[in-house]
Amino acid sequence: MHVSILGSAAGGGFPQWNCACSNCRSLRNGSFSGKARSQLQVAISPDGQSWFLLNASPDIRCQIEACPSLHPRNGTRHTPISGILLTSADLDQVLGLLQLREFQPLTIRATASIRRILREDNSVFATLNRIPDQADWIDIVPGQPFQLSSGNAPLICHSFSLATHYPSYVSQERAARLVSAEASLGFMIDDQGRRLAYFPAVPDLDSQLLSTLGEADVILFDGTFWTDDELSSVRGGGPLAREIGHIPVSGPEGSLRKLAGLTNARRIYVHVNNTNPMLNESGPEYRQVRDAGWEVAEDGWQFTL
Ligand SMILES: [Zn+2]
Repeated sequence: MHVSILGSAAGGGFPQWNCACSNCRSLRNGSFSGKARSQLQVAISPDGQSWFLLNASPDIRCQIEACPSLHPRNGTRHTPISGILLTSADLDQVLGLLQLREFQPLTIRATASIRRILREDNSVFATLNRIPDQADWIDIVPGQPFQLSSGNAPLICHSFSLATHYPSYVSQERAARLVSAEASLGFMIDDQGRRLAYFPAVPDLDSQLLSTLGEADVILFDGTFWTDDELSSVRGGGPLAREIGHIPVSGPEGSLRKLAGLTNARRIYVHVNNTNPMLNESGPEYRQVRDAGWEVAEDGWQFTL
């Protein structure tokens, strides 16, 4: 399986347009010891020819242009992108769909609840279905594996229900009519026994999830926040990391400690918020993460597993 990390930041990217935290400020003035990052976008392929996008970030147009594998190959209209898998209805995971219109046939897989939020509540997404055979929406049922590609050796995707909260733009009344187990997913993608875990938004790490992650060869994991109170300490207000569906990296209950036993897998933090101090490669947080055997994803990384 080919894996391409086209973007690695959380919503807003790094730097974020309206943010003057110490990370964003020093990145802008050239004194930051670390890299700028676009919003999280991962693409996978069983053969290097046919690609599947894991979510669709608001930065997708530039991310596709930066990745020759995703450029058109045949004729005047073509894409090697065969499908898109959505883990949630978060804006930084779905807004890119609107940039993939242009009458391009696409297969979009999402839970029925996420599909309903996008297609029934937000008419702008109708742009993906202006003509027959444009977007083909296929429901993901959490827990039921499905195949990606029609080749001889398809990828098998297993989905896991994680958070039960819908994005804040979904009203509580609407959310009550949706299935809570369909709000947010993690994926384990299996290529003939080699497994990629994609878990960009994890509110809690229970023993079941720990054992699932223990089966992965590469783990792309929620690195959004360093501490639970990161947003409030930087902005002077804001929700806790756990309240918006992200277990922090640090601390006794953080992912670094809880996943310390998974030393057989390559472990990479993704979806890193611009406020996270581990972006600073000369700081103690970055050193702590690297010393624990973890990597902090950067835009443009590619690997095969
Ligand atoms: Zn910032």
